[in-house]
Amino acid sequence: MIQSLLIANRGEIACRIIRTARALGIRTIAVHSDADAQALHVRLADAAVAIGPAPARDSYLVGEKIIAAARATGAQAIHPGYGFLSENADFAEAVIAAGLVWVGPRPDSIRAMGLKDAAKARMIAANVPVTPGYLGEDQSAERLKAEADAIGYPVLIKAVAGGGGKGMRRVDDAAAFMDALASCKREAASSFGDDRVLIEKYILSPRHIEVQVFGDSHGNVVHLFERDCSLQRRHQKVIEEAPAPGMDEATREAICAAAVRAAKAVDYVGAGTIEFIADASNGLRADRIWFMEMNTRLQVEHPVTEAITGQDLVEWQLRVASGEALPKRQDELAIDGWALEARLYAEDADRGFLPSIGPLDLLSFPEDDGLRIDTGVEQGAEVSPYYDPMIAKLIVHREDRDAALEGLATAAGSTLVWPVRTNAGFLERLLSLDAVRAGQVTTGLIEQRLEDLRGPAGPDGDMIRVAAAGLYMTRRDETPPSFWTGMILSSDEDASASAGLAGFRLNAPSSVRVTVESLGEVSVVAFDPAEIESIYEYDERGGDAARPIELTAWGDAVLVSRAADLFAVRLAEPRGTAGAGAASDGAVLAPMPGRVTAVEVSAGEAVTKGQRLLTLEAMKMEHGLTAPFDGTIAELNAATGAQVSEGSVLVRVEPAGE
Ligand code: ADP
Ligand code: ADP
Ligand code: MG
Repeated sequence: MIQSLLIANRGEIACRIIRTARALGIRTIAVHSDADAQALHVRLADAAVAIGPAPARDSYLVGEKIIAAARATGAQAIHPGYGFLSENADFAEAVIAAGLVWVGPRPDSIRAMGLKDAAKARMIAANVPVTPGYLGEDQSAERLKAEADAIGYPVLIKAVAGGGGKGMRRVDDAAAFMDALASCKREAASSFGDDRVLIEKYILSPRHIEVQVFGDSHGNVVHLFERDCSLQRRHQKVIEEAPAPGMDEATREAICAAAVRAAKAVDYVGAGTIEFIADASNGLRADRIWFMEMNTRLQVEHPVTEAITGQDLVEWQLRVASGEALPKRQDELAIDGWALEARLYAEDADRGFLPSIGPLDLLSFPEDDGLRIDTGVEQGAEVSPYYDPMIAKLIVHREDRDAALEGLATAAGSTLVWPVRTNAGFLERLLSLDAVRAGQVTTGLIEQRLEDLRGPAGPDGDMIRVAAAGLYMTRRDETPPSFWTGMILSSDEDASASAGLAGFRLNAPSSVRVTVESLGEVSVVAFDPAEIESIYEYDERGGDAARPIELTAWGDAVLVSRAADLFAVRLAEPRGTAGAGAASDGAVLAPMPGRVTAVEVSAGEAVTKGQRLLTLEAMKMEHGLTAPFDGTIAELNAATGAQVSEGSVLVRVEPAGE
């Protein structure tokens, strides 16, 4: 067994590999860019080497720097993770030439599967069914068009060197073909430096089914059953599961056997995935499932396979790379229960899945039996613009699919992240769709159901009311715990029951009005103070009458959530005398994500109420942030040019005369 391992990757996959390697007694070495100097994978590893500036092309993608880091630290082997250099045959060759162990398939196997046309030709020879189409020997536009006409529309034009969902064009009729071809070739040339394309029949009602395969250097190849990864946005997977819903035993055997033939055809060693596309218009049928491509690496979604088989695939990789035989024979592998994974992305699902950059000031995952969280970040870390926006993977393993769906929806709904936006609420809604519950997942489903998946634009009246009550209590100094769980809006019945108690509260004022603000909307909430007590429950109340509304204390504000949709609510001056973002405890928060264009004060300086502290530019508009009262600058967290996220505390003013 190897003794030391360098991980040529970052984020959750680097952390995940380190954990398994450590359990096997292997010394671990991390590499990191300047942006990742404090990253979790760097802190977890036994040693770490800086390999350059933040952009991946200057660090994680520079093979020579990684090999030099391995040499300098005496690492014996290199694990590439996924993405980055994992499917780069030249890098694999250089690692081996440097006398290091490459944790991955032979460079020739990577090459054989690297181009989609050559891979398909090889699969045809190995008797693996491939998507009907034209492999593009003749690349003239006329010939490609004639082939598309013969295949019949719709067709898909694919760059032979494509990957990551790029370089693909769907064409619905002959008239649109030439334009689509030209634009696909342009994108392929600029993204992959190779403008060759192939043409495929576009499969309607497509489902993405893939099979995990594993080979060793002794000629053994097994499969570890299938996964369904049909739930995608922009051709990128969002939810993955194993096994695939609606897969019968005969169909499973047929495609898993085809996957093993595919792997054997390229003398495959290590972890790999054979991706298939299925026409699911009449359920899953072996004669309607075709080879699409092979990913010659460990996949993001490998944990669902680990869950249902009880195996650790990274351990398998390290054993195989060390020359050992596969840990299990085919007849020793079986499916146990159902597993689902959701990718938690830093993005705004309601705005075209726009990535969201910024600090992870709040990052809280639920804990539950059968729930696994794979992440590369901790609370306090930062989502930077340089890398993939994936924050974590939530993986649930249960006895059957319904229980796993329920468990994952609950887990997504209990994940709280602030101020970065995430798709947590989107995931929960997606997992609750009838079509998903029924197993009718297709690659177009998310796109078709975007309207149903949309989250609330802001807090509703109930949430505002609960938040206002929380802010009121905090201000009266009846400070509740900093994090309330299971807080449920009272029903009318509860309110009147506790209103009956009001007589005992001799000093209570008869009515309070609380003015609050959220997302620029000001609301005035009136309470009977006795009622305020009944707005909370400190313990989880039984029954499913209402969705709990939760509050998290957040500086001068409270974060209010119903499931994963989170909003900041703060006290507002009834007549709007304070500056935007100003707050009662002197914290001046960024009212929206933006860039600091001017800082007008320095720490320790005395300021007067209304004085301009700094200027924030957002969406091409300037916002002046002012002092809420006379005092001194106790905290200054913003520098000119800094990118700040909504709700972050930029300045804290300490009141004068205390
Ligand atoms: P597929 O490629 O079929 O989607 P995965 O779901 O395993 O398979 O995706 C591979 C992952 O690798 C993607 O989520 C992507 O974010 C990541 N990735 C790919 N290329 C890079 C890269 N150059 N740098 C960082 N991450 C990458
Ligand atoms: P990449 O290398 O970018 O991952 P793939 O060939 O794996 O490219 O295709 C990515 C996705 O595009 C698939 O997961 C599927 O959703 C869709 N797709 C690919 N081929 C077809 C096809 N022939 N018909 C319909 N959808 C397809
Ligand atoms: Mg793919």
